[in-house]
Amino acid sequence: MSIAPLAPGLWRLRANIVACYLLRDADGFGLIDSGWIGSRALIGRALREQGADWSALQLLLLTHGHIDHVGNAAWLQERSPELRVRVHAADTGHAGGRHAYRGLSRVCGWLEGCARPLTGFRPPRLAEPLADGEVIERFGGLEVVHLPGHTAGHCGLIHRATGWLFCGDLFSTTLGIFHWPPPFLNSASAAFPATHARAAALPVGGFLPAHCDNAPPETQRERFLRHC
Ligand SMILES: [Zn+2]
Repeated sequence: MSIAPLAPGLWRLRANIVACYLLRDADGFGLIDSGWIGSRALIGRALREQGADWSALQLLLLTHGHIDHVGNAAWLQERSPELRVRVHAADTGHAGGRHAYRGLSRVCGWLEGCARPLTGFRPPRLAEPLADGEVIERFGGLEVVHLPGHTAGHCGLIHRATGWLFCGDLFSTTLGIFHWPPPFLNSASAAFPATHARAAALPVGGFLPAHCDNAPPETQRERFLRHC
């Protein structure tokens, strides 16, 4: 459990299972993903350390709709009623807890189905969907890059201020071990080759995965390029 400043106005909030990222600009705060178990306390602490409270949270951008990314979104909206939650249109079913999993990924659906009541999951109110190529003029500029494969609506976000890519579950480096998301968690696997090629060619200097160790963003990107 840690709060790590990565750049001015950017923090990585690492809980046991997954990290989310807090962003700040002159008008308020935003999140890339909402984390899951343990993340609520980290988000609250990070806001307090910046002299803010829940009401300062304005925008939550989801890389995709799996429960370990969207799990706290409705809880946060109860504390910050103005919080806008956005996800790609192809992942609104995931974010609402009603995606119809098929094939091997039904294992993922079963796991989420078990976890939802245990963690008090409620679907968030969703604002307009994220669109590939859209630029969000907040927090130093965030460009949406559709990177399907893990889910059909999985997206990365290029943070223009740092030149880094929030890359969600494109890959994982938890405990320093690189691995691709396991097949039973992927619902659009046919898209992986094109997505890996697109991500490798993006004009960014570093990657910020959701499941990761403490290596710098540049190292995370080098690991991805070595494996893809
Ligand atoms: Zn995922």
